[in-house]
Amino acid sequence: MRRTLPILVLLLVVTAIPCHGVVSLPEVWARVQVSLESGDGEGLERGVKDLMTTASELGVRRLTPYAMALVQWARAHPGKRGDLAVRLAGKLDPDLPAPHFLMAAASWNGGSPVTGARQFVSGWIAVLRDWSSRRLLLRSLWPWLLLGLVGAVVVGALFQTIRFLPELVHDAWELGQLLFRRADAAVFAVVIVALPVFAGLGLIWLAAWLFVLIWAYLDRRQRVVAGLLWVVAFLLVPVSQLWVDSGLGAAPIPARATAMLAEERADLSTLQGFADLEEQLGTSAIYHLVLGKLFLLHGDCLDARLHFQKALLADSADPRPLVFLGNIAFTEGNISEAIQLYSSAIQRDPRCVLAYYNLSYAFDRSYRFQEADSMRIKARELAGREYTRLRSEGRELKIVDPQVGRDDIERLESEVSPEQWRVAGLARRELPDVVGLVLAPTPLVFLVTGLLGLVGVILRKRWMWTASSCTRCGNVFCPRCKTAVESDAYCSQCISVFLKRDMVAIEQQSAKLDQIRRWERWTGLGRRVVSILAPGSGAILLGRWGKGIGEAFLVSFLGAGALVWLPRFMAELEPSISIVPLQVTFLGLAGLVWLRAIVTSWVRR
Ligand SMILES: [Zn+2]
Ligand SMILES: [Zn+2]
Repeated sequence: MRRTLPILVLLLVVTAIPCHGVVSLPEVWARVQVSLESGDGEGLERGVKDLMTTASELGVRRLTPYAMALVQWARAHPGKRGDLAVRLAGKLDPDLPAPHFLMAAASWNGGSPVTGARQFVSGWIAVLRDWSSRRLLLRSLWPWLLLGLVGAVVVGALFQTIRFLPELVHDAWELGQLLFRRADAAVFAVVIVALPVFAGLGLIWLAAWLFVLIWAYLDRRQRVVAGLLWVVAFLLVPVSQLWVDSGLGAAPIPARATAMLAEERADLSTLQGFADLEEQLGTSAIYHLVLGKLFLLHGDCLDARLHFQKALLADSADPRPLVFLGNIAFTEGNISEAIQLYSSAIQRDPRCVLAYYNLSYAFDRSYRFQEADSMRIKARELAGREYTRLRSEGRELKIVDPQVGRDDIERLESEVSPEQWRVAGLARRELPDVVGLVLAPTPLVFLVTGLLGLVGVILRKRWMWTASSCTRCGNVFCPRCKTAVESDAYCSQCISVFLKRDMVAIEQQSAKLDQIRRWERWTGLGRRVVSILAPGSGAILLGRWGKGIGEAFLVSFLGAGALVWLPRFMAELEPSISIVPLQVTFLGLAGLVWLRAIVTSWVRR
């Protein structure tokens, strides 16, 4: 740990050549580092304050590399000094999540849980504000949600199928009897029910096949739920594929540069990556403009100036390079040079507000107050309502840098030929190949079985009967084998025993009642045992599909959050944070949902 710090610092020194007027960031950082090593807390605080003043003069809001260096140092030096370093890291980059979480842990351990909780919350706010950790969070959400959905789909489809399997087998057998001799009917039934196995297809085909075959037995609401489950099952693999294609690799350099500009953040690796593209994109004026701005964000005025000059040569209309160059001259104290540059910017674009605005301050500095006032009036005239925003944007030296951001990077992408863009190793945003995604092996299973299931439902509604089970004894019957017609819900036996009581012998009645009692005992026991094994299954077997599938989703989602998402996400965000309390909370909630599902299954008859 200790060894990494000087390397990082060296990197900071090498890449940043100071602006002459201001004390450079690396110079101040060197002082911070001396205070760190000697344990001089006051010197450290002073150094960090100077670092922030310098950053404000340069228009840098987030000093991420320096903050990260402090956090790294703090990890290797736990205790009071480490805590101080973490607190100062939080000042250098308020949107970096790690310092918030480390401070929260320190407050918690130091006996102030309320402060700790507040810092913990602000850590999560920082996660949402910071582009790269927000991206990390969004990227990690799909696998988490995926695990929850897989749990819901597997439990939902499996137990719905199990519930209606007897009816399905009965109908297959009856159909076999209709078409063949009695002995062949059983073979026919087995072949129909296990068709994918005979076709040499896998288990997933069999599961999907059985699931669509039971659609014929569902009422309207159950069909809606089954349809939703089918859509989710169908989409799981294509969406995961899209997620892999779009989100897994490192963020593309242009996107990172856009974020860096928007957050006014120093970020060495992005700067390096963007600078490396010069050979391929160096003919573009916008490229140099953006790169110049990125160098400015690191306090490197020499390189910034070089690239603004290149931008100036490559594009004769954009006044922004001239304004930037004027600002650098202003920062360095070369006021007459600044006045010249701002004036050239106005020659290029007589409507350039910032050139007039900054020029007014340059005139102020050289005691030409009348000219300054007239420039200010001109700027106010051109800017209109925007003028107040300009005044609030001015930093320590009051001058304002031109906007460089997302629009410019998008223009860069559209300006550079696709070939150049590709040679630079940058991928253009492309539309996904939807057909290829849908025809991949797994979605194809659901597509084919789903269509067959739909056809099956329509055909059966028109030409075939559907079996049902007796609400009293569970016997499966269909119109072909049922002899009594007095009730739709009861089987023939139950109709004769319970509805036509006087025509049946007492012994027969009590035998039927015994059978019903056994049936109720065994199905009840089965349902209760199953509800312990798979969350939500008890409710599904009772016909409460929405509730059962919801329980299955919640338990698998919370469980996956505790066991998969939290360890992997937090390890990348800030590895030294203890995630056990959150894991316990997630698992506790999952356990409560599961327990409640079990209890309702055991209480209900
Ligand atoms: Zn019955
Ligand atoms: Zn039948």
